[in-house]
Amino acid sequence: MFPLIIINRKKLIDNIENVLKMSRENNIPYITFVVKAFSGNEEILSIINSTSLKSIGDSRIENLKKFQSLPIEKMLLRIPMLSEVRDVIKYADISLNSELSVIEALNAEAKAQNKIHDILIMFDLGDLREGLYYKSDYLPFIEKILSLQNINIKGIGTNLTCYGGLIPDEIILNRLVQIKNKIENGFSIKLDIISGGNSSSVTLFNQNIIPKEINHLRLGESILFGKETSYSKEIKGLNHDVFLFQAEIIECKTKPSFPDGTITINSFGEVPQIEDKGMITRLILAIGKQDVILENLVPIDENLSILGGSSDHLILESKNNKYKVGNIVTFKINYPALVHLMNSNYVKKDFQ
Ligand SMILES: *Cc1c(COP(=O)(O)O)cnc(C)c1O
Repeated sequence: MFPLIIINRKKLIDNIENVLKMSRENNIPYITFVVKAFSGNEEILSIINSTSLKSIGDSRIENLKKFQSLPIEKMLLRIPMLSEVRDVIKYADISLNSELSVIEALNAEAKAQNKIHDILIMFDLGDLREGLYYKSDYLPFIEKILSLQNINIKGIGTNLTCYGGLIPDEIILNRLVQIKNKIENGFSIKLDIISGGNSSSVTLFNQNIIPKEINHLRLGESILFGKETSYSKEIKGLNHDVFLFQAEIIECKTKPSFPDGTITINSFGEVPQIEDKGMITRLILAIGKQDVILENLVPIDENLSILGGSSDHLILESKNNKYKVGNIVTFKINYPALVHLMNSNYVKKDFQ
């Protein structure tokens, strides 16, 4: 039964509804719940179905394929590979795009499947991940797409705080508004969706500085962990403990804290930085670097601290030890730990 990740359905549903409400209060009517951290786990279908969500997003088309039974919009978040356009047209209602050759391939495939495919065109406002650079001459690009019969430009979007760590503010989001105005005026069209980023944009809630034109956000971490991601602050009124992780103790011994002999690199090619604290109680848990980056786990018991580990072992120091072999240790986790643990076949998933 272990290692085990526990997902609290009720707390997650509360967070979804509360973030939808907060977004409406900030004049953002349209939210896509980003579910990529669940690695396509179908248990989330019943959770999503019991909320008022109208849209979910994932970066892998394989996951959207598994979510076909959901009666709401399915958005592909990662720019499609040319080799997957067939599935994109089949399983995504809308995709984020930045490359003409891909959009042309989507158009041809949409024609073959007798569909009109919606896209958001991504603009890079300076964070330097995907998108047309905001200072570039993008109108000819838009003009070419407008001539494609089976592609509908539903809107434009941006992604912030992902690669370059660019924090959204009024000035940066207004770059997107200027792009909207230039495209709408240049071609006499109306863009339905102006997508102002991810959970880092939640930082701007309740400050009255989000431009009124921004009407959509794509939110993962803020819903899952109840925090904005520009400054990693917890948001009041949301649950911060939707996820817990548990692993089992397979060894418990009092041993020295410092290796005995000449030290070289460990199994991951690092020279271990080990402090000599004399004799300590050491617990070994059956979880390792194959499943999660160990530093992303935080033991709830403050007497426990992480010393390190290897592919399949996690070593903890236990002060005032009260544990024995077979006991379970519970951890809080962060977003990267959730991504890795959900993706590990060795970790059981319990949606409670
Ligand atoms: C992952 C992702 C998001 C969600 O990011 P969070 O910080 O978890 O809210 C939004 N948009 C795109 C394109 C993404 O890849």
